Amino acid sequence: MHRFKKFSLLRYGAMALCALSLPSIVGCRKQEPSSDMAELRQTEFDVRAEHFAAIVIDMHADTAQRLLDEGIDLETRLPNGHLDGVRMREGGLDAQFFAVWVEPQFYGVGGRRAVERADAQIAAVRAMVERHPDRWALATGAEEIERAAREGKLAALLGLEGGYAIDERLENVERYYRMGVRYMSPTWTVSLSWAGSSGDAAGRTRGLNDFGRAVIGEMNRLGMMVDVSHVSDRTFWDIIETSRAPVIASHSGARAIVDVPRNLADDQLRALARTGGVCAVIFYPAFIEPGWEKLQARVEAEIAPLVRDETKNLRGSPSQRRAARDRVREREFARRLPPVFVSRVVDHIDHIVRVAGIDHVALGSDFDGIQSVPQGLASVADLPNLTAELARRGYSPSEIRKILGENVLRVMREVERRATQLQQTAR
Ligand SMILES: [Zn+2]
Repeated sequence: MHRFKKFSLLRYGAMALCALSLPSIVGCRKQEPSSDMAELRQTEFDVRAEHFAAIVIDMHADTAQRLLDEGIDLETRLPNGHLDGVRMREGGLDAQFFAVWVEPQFYGVGGRRAVERADAQIAAVRAMVERHPDRWALATGAEEIERAAREGKLAALLGLEGGYAIDERLENVERYYRMGVRYMSPTWTVSLSWAGSSGDAAGRTRGLNDFGRAVIGEMNRLGMMVDVSHVSDRTFWDIIETSRAPVIASHSGARAIVDVPRNLADDQLRALARTGGVCAVIFYPAFIEPGWEKLQARVEAEIAPLVRDETKNLRGSPSQRRAARDRVREREFARRLPPVFVSRVVDHIDHIVRVAGIDHVALGSDFDGIQSVPQGLASVADLPNLTAELARRGYSPSEIRKILGENVLRVMREVERRATQLQQTAR
């Protein structure tokens, strides 16, 4: 089944790849058809074969809210959004971390409603897997991802985006671990008493307090990866100092290319690498294309009345109304903003490889959580285009496998191994 899947997709992909106007992809470099076609197909086949043979892991997508708020079925091809099972198979994506995102403005930075919101998203992901036991598997470790891939199933993993749902109680870290959560970022864009965020003023001077350090220790003990993607610089360095296991950034870019707080500076990338962790590169144009965020802000102001008008009569929960507004914004951004290309994502990968090393980079799209996507990376179905660009830049098959998923598998194994060690020494 797995083999059949890959074979049929290769044929699909060869067409898609050349139809796409990527600048000089390996296999498309020779433009003249006819006699060169056999050779051309052969080169392409190699890059695509490599992609589909690799275990491909995306560390961050916001699809869990759609499962919960829209009741989508991931085993149908969805007409909107960036991710479903059908397109995952087309794009050779084997494993997806579903971010469990509690919007503090709607559910609070703690308390019962924040806990319920996180629990409901986890339940929605688990229910989706249980509805399709022949096509999906819930995975909590590297072995389970590999087994799912062997069995031709898609792997669903869970990560908490923001520690709001642990409600300042240490025992809740273990509670979420037991529910299957395998990474947590202490904050989203709102700081907590115990951890500063990169998204607000409080975060500028706030790192981890004693409770925050205890949370990191508890995550290490359990084998839950610590995610720094949204935390403040102060919190980042406190985590580096505190964590006794590899640290990850589940969806960030390189600050040397785009200087925004959500991206990591070179010294941060090096520090992350020293822990043995990875920076999973985000696909969001605002964080990968220099100057793009300013343009987006201008358009955002321009379209504000339109967004209000089109969504003013909508009913539903605050999250559902926010999603509807985001869809209008998505449509207008696509119309009004210049395209950003796949090659820009690879610029960030290149930079992280140069600064931190080939073992410390991965993919963290933020699909279904962003209102703009790069051209040629409109959904998970387009992931082979990313591999084509990596190949074009001279990455070897073994390096490509690391970037696509092996680095994440290594980090997950190491975090598990450290947890076992810590539990043994504590006895
Ligand atoms: Zn995020």
